This record gives sequence, C-alpha cells and structure tokens, in this order.
Amino acid sequence: MVIVMRHLIASLVAAHMIAASQPPSYTIDAIRLLNRGGFKVVVVTSQAGVAHGSVTEEFLSEVHGVITERVAEAGGRIDSFYYCPHHPHAAVEKYRTECDCRKPKPGMILNAARDLSLDLSRSFTIGDRWRDIEMGIAAGTKGVLVETGYGKTEAPRRPAHLPPVPVVANLIDATSLILRKSGV
Ligand SMILES: [Zn+2]
Repeated sequence: MVIVMRHLIASLVAAHMIAASQPPSYTIDAIRLLNRGGFKVVVVTSQAGVAHGSVTEEFLSEVHGVITERVAEAGGRIDSFYYCPHHPHAAVEKYRTECDCRKPKPGMILNAARDLSLDLSRSFTIGDRWRDIEMGIAAGTKGVLVETGYGKTEAPRRPAHLPPVPVVANLIDATSLILRKSGV
C-alpha cells in the first residue's frame, strides 16, 4: 500500500530554506498515522526549478535527506521521494524532454510501485491540484484532494474528464478518510 503526496515539501524546496526546513507537525502526525496503518509514504513532486537551472539535483537530494531525518526524529517514516526534473522547454538541455514522469502522467507513481512493490489498487494519491489527482488515477490509485495549498481554488474546478473524488480540509482529514476506507 502506498500514499502519495505532492505539496508536502515543494514550498520548502522552492524557498531554498534547507536549514530552516521543518515539516509542519500535523504533516508528521499524518505520516505517523499512515505508517502505523501499514501504508508506505512516498512523496512525489514536480521540480521544474531543476529544468530551469534554479535548483540542482544535489540540492534537492540534500533537502530530501533533511526532511527524511526530521520526520524520522519525530517518529515518522517517508519511504521514498520521486520528482520530475524535466520540462519540454527546460533551460538546462539535459532536462529538456517530453518525459513520462511529468504530471499528470503517471511515471513517478509507476516507478514507486515498481521499486517498492506497491499495490496501486489499494493506494491513494493525495494532492492539492487536479493534475495530482489525474496522475494518481492514471496510475490506478484512488485520489483525495486537500484544500490546503492550491486546493481551495482547485476544489470547485474539477475538469470534466475526471471523476469526483473526496475533497477534505487537510492532510490529517485525508489520512483519517484513507484509514477508514481501508478498514484500518
Ligand atoms: Zn519527468
């Protein structure tokens, strides 16, 4: 089982605040609850900053390391991070491509499923944008939209080609819903 989240760390990375990057405590609570419920927690993000040359992959992996450590210190476990560093118009040539991992394509989740032996039919994608949900559905997971981040503006604007999914206030509510639906 897996749970995939998008915006957990994106803002921290964008702000280059590695020294100060502290995941909010409710985020860590949610991760701990999911861990206890037997879920693997995977963070999936777009990192167009890499494509455009404002962030390096080395920096990103440093940030991922710090976040993993801080979550672990608080008793939680993030199993893995996946990111898409590509963009069709990337400034940095090696990232300029039409890849399979750019949202809403499901490449990142499919890679996670392969690497971590995840059962996608019993997995959930939590995100604050419809393209996160679209990626999750394309990968065979169920979606949950949270109203934090972009979610408040996104919630009423579901694209017609996507089925309705539960919309909840935040990550904690998403977690309770997922545990309840999974019979945990
Ligand atoms: Zn990509």
